[in-house]
Amino acid sequence: MSSPLRKPLIAGNWKMHLTLAQSLELARAVRDGVGDAASEVALCVPFTALALVAETLRGSRVRLGAQDLHWETQGAFTGEISPVQLVDAGATMTIIAHSERRRYFNETDEAVNKKLRAALAAKLVPILCIGETLEEREAQRTFKVLQTQLEGGLKGFAPVDLAPLVIAYEPVWAIGTGKTATPDQAQQAHLFVRKTCARLYGEGFASGCRILYGGSVKADNVDRLMAEPDIDGALVGGDSLKAASFLRIVHFQAPAAAR
Ligand code: PEP
Repeated sequence: MSSPLRKPLIAGNWKMHLTLAQSLELARAVRDGVGDAASEVALCVPFTALALVAETLRGSRVRLGAQDLHWETQGAFTGEISPVQLVDAGATMTIIAHSERRRYFNETDEAVNKKLRAALAAKLVPILCIGETLEEREAQRTFKVLQTQLEGGLKGFAPVDLAPLVIAYEPVWAIGTGKTATPDQAQQAHLFVRKTCARLYGEGFASGCRILYGGSVKADNVDRLMAEPDIDGALVGGDSLKAASFLRIVHFQAPAAAR
């Protein structure tokens, strides 16, 4: 079970899905079903749905997030969205460096570092994604990859600046594939991430930093994952697109009962 120092966070990543009408319907259902869940809950929606979903969530305890951002506040960057625009649209969080962005849009750790700095400056809670591919795991390079992504992404910050940071460990081979990391595999990676954070930024930062697991989290595996001591929540793709499955994940069962 995660430390009481860290409030669990369940965040949905809608990716490039849903029309405005569908977004509205799903956001309403999540808002109305969240009840007294023990975790913090967030929906990371497409840019086009931000303002509308912000209205729907206003006054509720569900937070609104984006899925990416540009590091400049404004300027001639056609097609990009700035942190200022995200805040203006009602977002309070943003995913950064999702593996789909690293893979399909060649996002480097240097760009990730700039995005992180921009998000923090705009007071957006960043959810920084890291994770290894299947090839890297099979070559026993998982920890090396996580270390490189963390060192590159987090370069040059003071620990105090990183206080709002959320990290999401998302093994690439588990995203959208239906193959979830076992609770043991996920725990080992989370522990390594926490130890690396402690080495880079001190025990105080590391013990308060929330590390989410992402990769085919579903209603039927969330309880066992959340029973692990270093798993502080979930970043959920596919199963965040249906209210019933997402709400079951949000209301994960008390870890002690899940073992
Ligand atoms: C994700 O999009 O971050 C993700 C983990 O997707 P899925 O839950 O579908 O594997």
